[in-house]
Amino acid sequence: MSVREEFDEWATAGKDRGMEERHWHTAKHALARMPVETGDTVLDLGTGSGYALRALRERDVGRAYGLDGAPEMARNAREYTDDDQVGFVVGDFDSLPFADDSIDHVWSMEAFYYASDPHSTLREIRRVLKPGGTFYCAVNYYEENRASHAWQENISIDMTRWSREQYREAFRDAGLYVAEQDNVPDREIDVPDESEFPTEDWDTREAMVDRYRTWGTLLTVGVAP
Ligand code: SAH
Repeated sequence: MSVREEFDEWATAGKDRGMEERHWHTAKHALARMPVETGDTVLDLGTGSGYALRALRERDVGRAYGLDGAPEMARNAREYTDDDQVGFVVGDFDSLPFADDSIDHVWSMEAFYYASDPHSTLREIRRVLKPGGTFYCAVNYYEENRASHAWQENISIDMTRWSREQYREAFRDAGLYVAEQDNVPDREIDVPDESEFPTEDWDTREAMVDRYRTWGTLLTVGVAP
């Protein structure tokens, strides 16, 4: 299946809202760190329901673009806002439909690892960023987060599973400085009492605590020179 087919199905099934709810637990903390200023132009790669842009607009950014490879995702996202400064485009990470040096800050949550060529996507991000612009890249699927490894079995798109270090190296190879890398724990997801385990999803309570409270979301921040 293509990105389009896979995620159009998710959007039609309403999974975009479910992701928004779960990802918000850590995304809000990462978004709060973005150094956006009034009037900035921001871009959200793999925008899903577009919640990140709605949140950034509350901080007075200017134009906000959400790019997604699945037309149904973009269509849903449009329905969730009537803000005329927020626009959604259907496109692929391989070739960003934006001019060189045109974007102040790029955000992406739980999407970057679906890129067919993540190195080329990073070069694209570097190209569209203005000098001093940032890329806030948030992922839950990465090497150190062992519980995430099984996700690939449930999806037809090849996922890139980098380690923390591989993220930093790849950012640098694409010409971005690495300003920060951090694990943002999910403190909101309910972890049941010991007596409830095993659950449908978790063999042990420790595994669940490790996944959410220890590893959570990996945030890597790149800065364009
Ligand atoms: N950022 C949202 C959505 C995550 S799901 C959230 O946090 O909930 C991943 C999204 O990335 C999907 O909407 C999917 O269609 C999009 N996506 C995946 N690969 C893509 C690619 N190569 N180009 C553009 N969009 C892509």
